[in-house]
Amino acid sequence: MAATYDAIVVGGGHNGLTAAAYLARSGARTIVLEGRYKTGGAATTEAPWPDAPELKVTRLSYVMSLLPPTIIRELELERYGYKIYPMGPYYQAFPEGGSIKLYADDAKRNYEEVSKWSKADADAMPKWDAWLEGLADVLGPLLLTVPPNLGSRKPRDLAETLRLAWRNRGLDVRTIADVTRLMTMSIADLLDDWFESSQVKGALAVNGVIGTWAGPYEPGTAYVMAHHSIGDVGDGHLGNWGFQEGGMGGVSSAIEAAARSHGAEVRTNARVARILVENGQAAGVVLDNGEELRAKVVVSTLHPRTAFLDQVGAENLPDDFVTDIQHWKTRSGVVKINLALGELPDFIADPGSQLQEHHTGSVEMAPTMEYIERAFQDAREGRPAARPFSDGVIPTAFDKSLTPEGTHIMSLFTQWVPADWNSEPHTAELEAYADRMIDCYNELAPNLKSAILHRDVVGPYEMEHEYGLVGGNIFHGELSLEQLFHMRPAPGYADYRTPVPGLYYGSSATHAGGGVCGIPGWQAARAAIADRKTSKRSGQIRKVTRRS
Ligand SMILES: Cc1cc2nc3c(=O)[nH]c(=O)nc-3n(C[C@H](O)[C@H](O)[C@H](O)COP(=O)(O)OP(=O)(O)OC[C@H]3O[C@@H](n4cnc5c(N)ncnc54)[C@H](O)[C@@H]3O)c2cc1C
Repeated sequence: MAATYDAIVVGGGHNGLTAAAYLARSGARTIVLEGRYKTGGAATTEAPWPDAPELKVTRLSYVMSLLPPTIIRELELERYGYKIYPMGPYYQAFPEGGSIKLYADDAKRNYEEVSKWSKADADAMPKWDAWLEGLADVLGPLLLTVPPNLGSRKPRDLAETLRLAWRNRGLDVRTIADVTRLMTMSIADLLDDWFESSQVKGALAVNGVIGTWAGPYEPGTAYVMAHHSIGDVGDGHLGNWGFQEGGMGGVSSAIEAAARSHGAEVRTNARVARILVENGQAAGVVLDNGEELRAKVVVSTLHPRTAFLDQVGAENLPDDFVTDIQHWKTRSGVVKINLALGELPDFIADPGSQLQEHHTGSVEMAPTMEYIERAFQDAREGRPAARPFSDGVIPTAFDKSLTPEGTHIMSLFTQWVPADWNSEPHTAELEAYADRMIDCYNELAPNLKSAILHRDVVGPYEMEHEYGLVGGNIFHGELSLEQLFHMRPAPGYADYRTPVPGLYYGSSATHAGGGVCGIPGWQAARAAIADRKTSKRSGQIRKVTRRS
């Protein structure tokens, strides 16, 4: 006899765990099925060096920002170990000498820092911050909005669209123009409009290319910068970016503990092979080992290609939806390099290997826009970057739970390698790429190489084959304009429902994803809970048709 549940969640990443927590909290008998030996997905803390199990790294994602206060409060995550250390400043040391620090909330110090490179840029900085804040006021709350089905003439969809328009009725011509610029411009062109010094522009460009298969001169990268800069989703101020105690796995385990406290079951080493569709409705899942589990509600949080094309099957889906998912763009060219260090980097520009403020934030390798662009062009031409770009952090500047006293973890989020490196391991080339990345830092902090105790290099192939991040894309799909809001993951299905009644979708490939924000999982659970209530009242399962 197949085990029966009210709800099955496929994937135990942080979104799957969030969905399970909300479903279980609503009274649904819920199980999470995770294919790996542990939960967390891309929000994971692991010990990658067998001969040094005491050294733990936040292996893929590394900093928190967008988890809404509502989720933290409702799931009581602080009770279960959610604890954030706010990050220090953005820091870049320059090959030509000198450095810059940028603070999230200290205008006076920013003025002093930027003045070192350009007085005009220092004067422009408060206006830029105010401009971004104004845009964040518009875009932030949209992250918690279920995208309307734009273009549909059905009364319910029209009502949703009008409600969204009404909520934004205060927007004036200027603000709409600014949002349009943000959505369509490259981060390079946008920054050229505001700043003159290459050092400041390099610093501000980083957020525009994180996880993106696009250099800073590509249209749309201005929006990526905004996605990574919004600190408030209209749900209470979220503050600065920060480090979770115990690494990003600490976020996942806090959510898992919350889910379990509401009665959810969580199974690891439980790889789902197929989602069962019977009479056009979701009916459960079949695991790799043939075991069947049944439920009228199934929430998938896997990459859309895996969820829909491999597990639901094209035969159970409308043709145009299948085409949309086949065309889903999912490249990144990201390589994560985790280093265990015997001492902190000693920068020529800011000497000393004792803990200093510049070790506490991001320690970047993005000295100029041209540097970042060159790294992208190398990969676009089919070679790994000769001088990669990196967003580095040293979480152990605060978090003593990851490594023994006196040792540190330096986590380098680097780009780019060619987009097709997801199909072969490229092990030797990745090691050479990591050597070059470390050389770049070593030019600025000459003790780095000798301080390295261990290193762990995770490329696109491992991201895809071990973690299920198809194409190596860190967000289950690019944050390009044609894949945002009502288009994420496909037009007509951005409301966390799918063409199959009873099947909900809450991975980072839905609106508000990617990132460790829990919003997709939360929204998918809300949709399922709402439909469960309706079907209990009417005795019928909600019918979904592509709405036109
Ligand atoms: C290198 C890297 C750095 C990043 N840095 C940041 C950052 O600093 N900050 C940030 O906010 N975001 C960051 N991100 C993005 C963020 O981590 C992801 O968007 C987010 O964690 C995805 O969560 P998810 O639950 O949607 O999916 P996932 O975390 O991918 O979870 C899906 C789960 O499903 C499991 N699974 C796969 N196939 C099956 C199957 N057949 N059966 C059962 N289970 C299966 C997987 O093992 C996984 O646990 C980063 C991502 C990467 C890769």
